[in-house]
Amino acid sequence: MKHLFGPVPSRRLGLSLGVDLLPFKTCTLDCVYCQLGPTTCLTLAREERVSTAEVLEEIRSLSEKGSDRVGHGDGGAGAAGAVEFDYLTLAGSGEPLLHRGLDEIIRGAKEAVDKPVALLTNGTLFFREEVRREVLEADLIIPSLDAATAPTFKRINRPHPDLSIDDLLEGLVRLREEFSGEIWLEVMLVKGINDGEAPLIAEAAERIGAERVQLNTVVRPPADPVQPLSPEEMEEMLEFFSGAEVIADWGRDLSKTTEVLIRDLLTRRPCTLEELSSLSGLHRNEILKYLEVLEAADEIRRLRHEGRLYFRAREG
Ligand code: SF4
Repeated sequence: MKHLFGPVPSRRLGLSLGVDLLPFKTCTLDCVYCQLGPTTCLTLAREERVSTAEVLEEIRSLSEKGSDRVGHGDGGAGAAGAVEFDYLTLAGSGEPLLHRGLDEIIRGAKEAVDKPVALLTNGTLFFREEVRREVLEADLIIPSLDAATAPTFKRINRPHPDLSIDDLLEGLVRLREEFSGEIWLEVMLVKGINDGEAPLIAEAAERIGAERVQLNTVVRPPADPVQPLSPEEMEEMLEFFSGAEVIADWGRDLSKTTEVLIRDLLTRRPCTLEELSSLSGLHRNEILKYLEVLEAADEIRRLRHEGRLYFRAREG
């Protein structure tokens, strides 16, 4: 599978089978907390960035196998076995709205597999009518909102110069009016960067009227060394966001075999996310889950060398 990855355990979606529609890493933003690393293609241009026909062929092959399963299995890298999934999720190596032809993919996916289709997006292009039209058949849209003012938008999301926070907010309001599925709005809070703006972000979220507002903080290796809010500080944020929830940390239900493989690779030499992905055969988003676990257990550490982010095992 070239475009499908996972299933990846997701804090919100259970087991999420990812559909990656972009070359790494293509985005309208360059968020300070991005777990994928710096944006190498900062653009607003919508194109058919991967072959829609190829993606649909892969999705259809799931049902041809007689079930909603993909043979990526426990270990991922060629391991045997098949795994159920709960959502087919458009996500991956950047911003999915940059792929022109999402409507065709969503429609084809819904015909091929009997699972809901979710879209993980930064929401920046919803101010364009044709973009909103392309996503109307999704079941669930999870957009982000990390700022309410231009300076904070620039600081945390480092947007393409032609994007504005007003367009982003307007696009989300319009989406809520036109889209009949659920919208879960994610707010990523970063210490000292946008937490001071929480009351204004909460007001903007209220205006958008999403079914759920989910507060998150930096729990995965980010592009820049930014700081998370503590659990207590996250609870305090709920005072501003009425009816919101703090997204609970995902239980560590990952493959031991893969965890050992990644730790072993990082014991031999420091690796970037890209290198780990190509050495293990796993998608970057899957690798990130394991890095999160290994970092939390203090078994690996990060280091920067010539502008690149490396991971290596701690000695001893
Ligand atoms: S929008 Fe998502 S993919 Fe793009 S830079 Fe931000 S966190 Fe990374």
